[in-house]
Amino acid sequence: MADPARDIRTRLEAAAHGLPVPEPTAASLFDHEVFSARSSVSPDEHYHLTHERMRVLNQRLGGGRSVLRSPEWMLAVLEHAAMIDPSLFLRAMVHYAVCLNAAVRLGDGNEELTAAVDRLDTLATVGGVLITEVGRGNSHISVRTRAEYDPELPGFRITTPAPEDAKFMPPVGLPGVPKTGVVYARLFAGGRDRGVFPYLVDIRDEHGPRPGIGVDRLPDTSVTPLDYSLVSFDNAPVPFGRWLRDTAEITPRGEFREPEEHAQQRLVRSLTVSSSASAAGAAALAAATRATAAIAHRYARHRRTESTVAEHVPVIDYRVQQDSLFGAISSAYATTFLVDSALRRWAEGRTTAPEGDDAAGAATWAPWTAVNRELSLAKVSATTTAERVCAEARRRCGAQGVLTTNRIPSYEALAQIYNSAGGDNRLILLDVGRALAAGTGYQPPRAERPSPPYRSLTDPRMCSYLLRADERWLHEQASAAVGTGTAPDALEEWNDHLWLLLELASAHARRLEFQAFGEAVGSVSDPRASRALRSAYELWELDAVGQRAATHLAHGRITAEEYLALPRLRSTVLRSFDGPVLAEGLGVPFDQLSVPIADPDYPYLLKHART
Ligand SMILES: Cc1cc2nc3c(=O)[nH]c(=O)nc-3n(C[C@H](O)[C@H](O)[C@H](O)COP(=O)(O)OP(=O)(O)OC[C@H]3O[C@@H](n4cnc5c(N)ncnc54)[C@H](O)[C@@H]3O)c2cc1C
Repeated sequence: MADPARDIRTRLEAAAHGLPVPEPTAASLFDHEVFSARSSVSPDEHYHLTHERMRVLNQRLGGGRSVLRSPEWMLAVLEHAAMIDPSLFLRAMVHYAVCLNAAVRLGDGNEELTAAVDRLDTLATVGGVLITEVGRGNSHISVRTRAEYDPELPGFRITTPAPEDAKFMPPVGLPGVPKTGVVYARLFAGGRDRGVFPYLVDIRDEHGPRPGIGVDRLPDTSVTPLDYSLVSFDNAPVPFGRWLRDTAEITPRGEFREPEEHAQQRLVRSLTVSSSASAAGAAALAAATRATAAIAHRYARHRRTESTVAEHVPVIDYRVQQDSLFGAISSAYATTFLVDSALRRWAEGRTTAPEGDDAAGAATWAPWTAVNRELSLAKVSATTTAERVCAEARRRCGAQGVLTTNRIPSYEALAQIYNSAGGDNRLILLDVGRALAAGTGYQPPRAERPSPPYRSLTDPRMCSYLLRADERWLHEQASAAVGTGTAPDALEEWNDHLWLLLELASAHARRLEFQAFGEAVGSVSDPRASRALRSAYELWELDAVGQRAATHLAHGRITAEEYLALPRLRSTVLRSFDGPVLAEGLGVPFDQLSVPIADPDYPYLLKHART
C-alpha cells in the first residue's frame, strides 16, 4: 500500500468501467481457512481462535519485526485484519504497533531485550500494553504504578500501590498463553521520582502469572471480545535490560541521567508509540465503515419489499433508503480520505509532536494529542463516522443488521470501543480544542463568502466558506473564553465553555475532511469515476452543512430559502448518485467475509451460516 488514497481511486476507476476491482494490498495474507467464519464458540474458544489467527498471520508475515518495516505495510495488514475479525485486529494492533514497536523504538537493543523481542517476533509470547489504572478517571496523566530501581537485582521492582491502581484492561487472562506487556510505571531511582517509563514485562507464561504479578480476569464481554483482565504488581522483579529507557540512563554507580528537555516531556516520549495505535485505529475504523456501507448497500439492492405504492421492488429504490445508504457510502469515502491524508503525512514524517511549552500545554487532559494531534483527531473523527454509519446501516438492514454473521454488529462494536480504546475521544477533542484556541501550531482559517453566482450549497466554494466561517467563529469564541487560562486552576473559569473546545475541534476535523475529500475528487482523472465521486462529495457537503445549519442560519451565512431548499437539493444529488459503482469502489473483500446478506441467495445462505 504505497499510497492508500491512490488505492481507493484505482479501485473506483476499475468499478466505474465494470472491471475487476484490485484486491487490497494485504488481502492474500488472509486467504487461509483459520480466518473463515466459525460457528458459535464459547468465550475461551473465541480467545484461543484469536490467538490461532494471530499465529497464522504472524507466520505468513514472516515474524513480527517484518510488520514494522514500514507504516504503510503495518496499516495495510491491520486494516485488513479489522474487516476479517475486529478482535484479531485489536489483539494484533497492540502486539505489533504498540508492544513490539515500543520495545524496538524505545529500548536500547541490549541482549536481554533482544531476546525478549525475539520471543515477541515469533509470537512465543503475545504482546500487550498496561497503562490505564482502574480506580481513577483519566489515569494516564497521573500513573501511580511504581518501578523502584533495585541495584541488587539489578533491575526494577514494580508495585501497585493500592488495589484501585491495578492496570485495566489488558487482554492477558487466558490460561496457558504466554503474555508480555509494556507496563507504564513511575520510576523511582536515587530516592526521586523520575517520571513515567515503559518496561517490557513478562506477565504470564504457560504455567500462569509470573512471580509478583496478579491477574484477575474481567467478566466476558460480547463487544470486541478478548480475555480482558486487571493486573496488579507486588514487588515484581524486572531485569534492568527490560527498561525501555529512551535517552535516560542509570550509571553503574546508581546515578540517574536524562537530557533536561526529554525529562520535561517524559510521559509524551514514553507514549510515542501511541501515534501508531491512533494511526492503526483510524485505518481500521475507516475499513470497518467501508465494509459496513458496502454490505448494507448490496443487501438493499436485492432485498425486495412490498407496499401499496410499489410492489416487490428493491428497497434501494426508495429515496429514504438511498438517503441513508448513499450517505453511508459517501461518509465511507470521506473518512477514508481524511484518514489516508493523516496517515500519509505521518508515514512521511510530516506530523510531528509539539515541543517545549507547546508539548506541555497540549496534554491538559490526556497525553494522546501531545504525541500526535493530527492522528488523534483522525482517530476520533473515524470513530464518530464509523459509529454513525454502522448504526444507520444496521437499522436499514432490518433484523439482518443485528445478526453477527452479517458482520455489521462487530464493526459497530469496534466503533463503540474506540470511543475509549487508544485514548478517550472526548479528552482528545478537549485537548485539540484547547491547542487550537491557544493558536498552538494553528491559524484560524480565512473565510470569504464566494461572490455570486455560485451554483448552490453543493458548490465546494460555498461549502468551504461555511466550514471555514464556522471554525473561525468557534475559534474566536473559544480563545476568548479559555485561550489564556492555565490548567489546573482554570476549571472554574473554563467549565461553562468546554463545549466550545469540543465544537472547535470537531469543526476543524470537518474542514480537514472536506479538504481531503476535495483533493481526492480533484485527483481522479477518469471521467466516469470522477462523476461518481463528485456526487458522493456533494452528498457529504450537504451532510456537513446540514449538521450546522442552525448556526449558519443564525449567522446569516445561508438564507432561509437556501435552508428550506436543502431537502430538494439532496434529492437531486441522490438521483445522480451511482451507488453500485461507488459501493464496488470501496474494495470490500466479500469473498473473504462471507456475509449472507451480501448475496441475493441470502435466505439459503443463512440456513448454513456461521458467525
Ligand atoms: C476494548 C478496550 C480495550 C482496552 N485495552 C487496554 C489495554 O490493553 N491496556 C490499557 O492500559 N488500557 C486499555 N483500555 C483502556 C482505555 O485506554 C481507557 O478506557 C481509555 O483511555 C479511557 O479511560 P477510562 O476508561 O479510565 O475512562 P475515564 O477516564 O473514566 O472516562 C470516563 C468518562 O469521563 C470523561 N472524563 C474523564 N476525565 C475527564 C476530565 N478530566 N474532564 C472531562 N471529562 C472527563 C471521559 O470523557 C469519559 O466520558 C482498553 C479500553 C477498551 C474499551
